[in-house]
Formats: sequence, structure tokens, C-alpha cells
Amino acid sequence: MRILKNLFIILFIISGMLFGSTKLIEKKWEKGGTFLKFLENNKLPLKLYYNLNVGDKELTSEIAAKSRYQILKDSNGTIKQVLIPVGEELQIHIGIHKNGYFINTIPIIYKTKYKILETSITSSAYKDIIKLTNNYLLANEFVQSYKKSINFKRDIRKGDKLVIVYAQKIRLGRQFGNPLIEASMVETRGVKHYIYRYEGRYYNAEGKEIAGFFLSAPCRYRRISDRFTYKRWHPLLHIYRAHLGIDYAASVGTPVHAAANGKVIFAGKKGGYGNCIIIRHIDGYKTLYAHLRKFARSIRRGKYVKKGKTIGYVGTTGLSTGPHLHFGLYKNNHAINPANTIKVTKSILNGKKRKAFLQYIKKYNKEIKIALTKHKKLEKESNFAFYMPIKK
Ligand SMILES: [Zn+2]
Repeated sequence: MRILKNLFIILFIISGMLFGSTKLIEKKWEKGGTFLKFLENNKLPLKLYYNLNVGDKELTSEIAAKSRYQILKDSNGTIKQVLIPVGEELQIHIGIHKNGYFINTIPIIYKTKYKILETSITSSAYKDIIKLTNNYLLANEFVQSYKKSINFKRDIRKGDKLVIVYAQKIRLGRQFGNPLIEASMVETRGVKHYIYRYEGRYYNAEGKEIAGFFLSAPCRYRRISDRFTYKRWHPLLHIYRAHLGIDYAASVGTPVHAAANGKVIFAGKKGGYGNCIIIRHIDGYKTLYAHLRKFARSIRRGKYVKKGKTIGYVGTTGLSTGPHLHFGLYKNNHAINPANTIKVTKSILNGKKRKAFLQYIKKYNKEIKIALTKHKKLEKESNFAFYMPIKK
């Protein structure tokens, strides 16, 4: 049923384009734009927003700046359909039927392609990856993952080899979302360096975790009242829900701490998130702290904060059913689950765990070895990135 409905939406768009009766417009979401303002600007009924439940209203605050959305209009210029992505799995869908406009959230249709990139470096690893894949996020992720072990400026020679085994979401024929590097290899001066993704984190060939990005818990809490989910089917309401952060239930006034070193890039009111702070960290990471009662005195835009610094206090501002901290984590402007990143030390796999790891990486070693001999050309995809690449 669901698949049929989604298929119908796609067919609707395609038929519209074919017969020229409708027009499909693709736009980029304005920075700082709210959903309410969007409805207003497009002369859509504001009750589409006001009738949403608290969770879905909050979700509209998650529409990422510069993300691409589609509007379908008929020949009279009347809006027939709108699709706006929130997170990597769901999209807000506005449609029209006899009784007027309606709104719901529907899954984003994508497929995941497993790809292997193999190349000899001609200029720089970063530039070569982009040239061959059109994928800025892949180039960033690759270079960042080797940051601690390789100096790409000094150690890399022309002709050095690299292999990346990765998964990439493809949506409407374009690359979409963060690529997941499963395994990779760089050869410099005859030495092969490997990195593998294992249980959501990067390890080298010895089973030692590669220092990545670690967060500390942003506040002391009584319990986690809502977990992170890209897409959850609500069995009673028969709708999809998403929650792009972790909710920590805590008393009003509990101090909220910066989860890592960074620069405050936002401190103010943000739609359903109420009083909200956003901090930018290294490697394309950002953290978000919402529903705060108030900010700590020195906190304002542009301020650098250290991990653990008190930045605000738990409250219930914005759309909130009770005092809690909504804590979000973003990589390259895509929400990701903070639970995998809240950690104090890096781990070294020992004993049984190490054995399992060494078994796990065998298939990747084999794939990398084959790639190095076969030199298969990679199919280049166009890009859906709504995010400016980190400048090198
Ligand atoms: Zn929340």
C-alpha cells in the first residue's frame, strides 16, 4: 500500500513533466527559513503547520538550510504537491485533495549502492576523489579518517594508490546523504595503511580505534525520554515519525554543557526548539541544544567554548511537553545519532573481540586486493549535496 502510494507520487511527478500540464520546480531551502514562513510565502494554509502534533512541529525545525525540495504546480500555477526532506529517511509531503491541502510525512525513496573506488593519485587524494566520484563528502570523510596517520601534503607521492569501499545513497538519480566508508586503503612509499568501519567506528588493521570525534554527555539527566530515529512507523496512528536527536529528561535549571570544543554559531530562538544553541566543531560536526530555559551569561554567537563548559540551562521553551534537553548531532548538516559518539576513550579490540574483527575485515581485504589488480572504472554519479564542501 505504502509502496503504491510512493509510486503514485513519482508517477504523478513524471506524468506532469511529460504532458507539460504541470511544472516541477526544485528549490533550495533558505538559510534560517521556517516552515511557517514557507507556507506563508507560497500562500498555503497555515493550519497545515498549526494542526501538526508537537513532534512533527519540532521536526519542521530540522529542515536543513540549502536542502533541495520540490514543488509541483499545475498550469494555473496552483501548488499540487510539495516534498521537503527532513533527515535522510523522511520527507514532509503536502498534497491536495477535494477538501483542500493535507500534510503528512512519507519515506524518502532511495537505493544504496555499494561502490569501490580505486585509483593512483595524480594531484591530491582529495581532488582525485572528487574528480572521479563527484562526491565532496566522500573526499572529506576519507581525508579526515586518515588525518591522524597520514600527512596528505607531505607523505603522498604521485602514483600512490588508494582504494575506498563505500556505500552511497542514491535518490532521484543523484548522490544523497553522508557516504559510509566501510573500508579504505592508502599506499604511500610501499606501505599500505588500512581503515575499517566496525560497529559504527573506525579501526586500523590492528584493531585499534582511530581517534575520531568524541562527545561527552551534555547534561546530567534522569532518563532518556526519546531516542534518535530517522524513521519509525507508529503502529496506532499509522504514520511515520522521526526524532533527529536524543531527549534527556532533567529538572529545569540543570546545567547544559558543550559536548565538545567548538564555536557557538547560533544562540537564540529557533522555531519549535525554543531557546537553542548550535556549536560547530571540527570535521564538519555540529551539536544542537534545544528547549533551554536560558543561556549561560557569556554565551553568544562567535564565542569559542571548551568541552564541558556550561552553555545554558535545561528548560521547556519552544514546543516541549516537559522539561528536557533535546540534543542533536550533525555531520555535514545531516543529523546523525549522537548515541554512537558519546564516549570518553578510544578502544583497542582484544581477545574475542579482536578475533571477530579480524574475521570481519577479511572480506574487505579481499575486495581491496581485487580492486588493485582489476582497475575497474567507477560509475560517476551526479551530486545531490546541499552542502558546501569544506575548503582545502
Ligand atoms: Zn527532541
